[in-house]
Amino acid sequence: MKSDIEIAQTTEMEPIDKIAKKLGLGANDIERYGKYKAKIKLDTYKQVLEENDPGKLILTTAITPTPAGEGKSTTTVGLGQALNKLGENAAVALREPSLGPCMGIKGGAAGGGYSQVVPMEDINLHFTGDIHAIGIAHNLLAATIDNHIKQGNELNLDPNQIIFKRVVDMNDRALREIVVGLGAKNGQTREDGYMITVASEVMAILCLAEDIIDLKSRLGEIIIGYTYEGQPVKAKELEVAGAMAALLKDALKPNLVQTLENTPAFIHGGPFANIAHGCNSIMATNLALHTADYTVTEAGFGADLGAEKFFNIKCRFADLKPDAVVLVATVRALKMHGGANGDSLQEKNLEALSAGLENLEKHIENVQKFNLPLVVAINEFTNDTEAEIKLIKKRCQELGVEVALSQVWEKGGAGGVEVAKKVLNLVDQPSEFKPLYSTEDSIEEKIERIATEVYGAAKVNFTAQAKKNIKQLAENGFANLPICMAKTPASLSDDPSLKGRPEGFELTVREIKVSAGAGFLVALTGDVLTMPGLPKEPSAEDIDINAEGKITGLF
Ligand code: ADP
Repeated sequence: MKSDIEIAQTTEMEPIDKIAKKLGLGANDIERYGKYKAKIKLDTYKQVLEENDPGKLILTTAITPTPAGEGKSTTTVGLGQALNKLGENAAVALREPSLGPCMGIKGGAAGGGYSQVVPMEDINLHFTGDIHAIGIAHNLLAATIDNHIKQGNELNLDPNQIIFKRVVDMNDRALREIVVGLGAKNGQTREDGYMITVASEVMAILCLAEDIIDLKSRLGEIIIGYTYEGQPVKAKELEVAGAMAALLKDALKPNLVQTLENTPAFIHGGPFANIAHGCNSIMATNLALHTADYTVTEAGFGADLGAEKFFNIKCRFADLKPDAVVLVATVRALKMHGGANGDSLQEKNLEALSAGLENLEKHIENVQKFNLPLVVAINEFTNDTEAEIKLIKKRCQELGVEVALSQVWEKGGAGGVEVAKKVLNLVDQPSEFKPLYSTEDSIEEKIERIATEVYGAAKVNFTAQAKKNIKQLAENGFANLPICMAKTPASLSDDPSLKGRPEGFELTVREIKVSAGAGFLVALTGDVLTMPGLPKEPSAEDIDINAEGKITGLF
């Protein structure tokens, strides 16, 4: 089997104009970034939304994953290709990969095997520069804060209560906690820190903005810190929201590329799936929806985190109505949930698999809580046995849920036809999508509903700090925002060691913050890292380029 990058490099891509044409977009609708990438003009975006009806929206999500990922991106790309193979006009909408995980543990994030987006080297390495633009817009605001304090601090900002950190798109743990302003002439000395760029609120905002004016207004609402009297201070008070939006003028335009089988793919925005909502931009999803008959998109981590936020935050803000859900499950992750240890996941183990199926069952129930039809896609790995696949299928049939084997990693679109046919049936069924809670519910009620209904918690404990936050947030008029849960992706609970379907546990919410620009409240459970570190042997050690400019080792 060839590596992902070898497969990607031996594939013939079509010129981007030809891909755009499949969506009814002409030469004047796109801004080319070389031969195989383009951005879609903002005027075109407006026009297609006005003129075209939306197609069907399909969300790919997954069971509680192993650290390696269970193949959501791969399945999303593969399903898009499979729908095209069946003669349908389909597009995919995905997140942009961050350089941190790419150089760290995970390698590239552009699908895998014969279901990838290309040019994969470009998509993984800088792409069209969006993430850098986001980093610079963010750091402009950070620089302005320290400059404001040095220039007289008219806003009376308390240097010890600045919450807006700096960002860089790299896993760099040494920058997690730093001191700025050292040296006699360099302003106020204070403790600060770096986050990875994709954790920036600016990224979340870009992904939720409808247009440049909405973007600017949301940027202005970012709370950067507090005065000595404890009053929140917003970015707009520093008067740089306009410049930030100007820096993002191109980043806001969705990017168009293609899959290995020349299916159009919008890749735009990549917010963290813990402190942010973890899915590609609303604009990219909308563009796909209004130019293709079927849009396949994905949300980060398992369905408890990614899909919940996709439904309760993104769909609510953009008034999106998903038509069907593809729930990705793997034999290896289910065996892990049934007690098999990490080293033995490749071995046949029907007992562990049978026990682990309770994790899949819970995620099925969760998707059904949003009133959506679903199909379980078993993402097949080479070590899976027939008996194991059969067992998953049998359990799904007992539950009355559609199930299909997905071989898109090995076979591309041809390996996804079974899933695609089921999806085509599902989207024609009447379904009445509904979010899980009303934003009018109290902050506690919203969190309790997510925790008890989606995670299966017995109750929620709010720490003294969280209770104080809730009171202040309500006083400042933020009680009616949707909730963005920051929780470990490794378990349905807030304890990463609890596998399967944990029950009777109590979820602890230790702090609640507002992302006022993005428009949600972040409820923090457990430790949430916003700046990852590099592992002992980073993926970067394998990446190389030769004299002809050919890149190797990028997975
Ligand atoms: P997710 O989106 O759920 O994080 P990805 O689709 O990015 O997962 O896949 C994670 C990794 O696993 C990628 O390197 C991909 O190539 C690999 N992968 C996915 N599906 C398979 C499969 N069926 N067989 C082998 N490797 C796979």
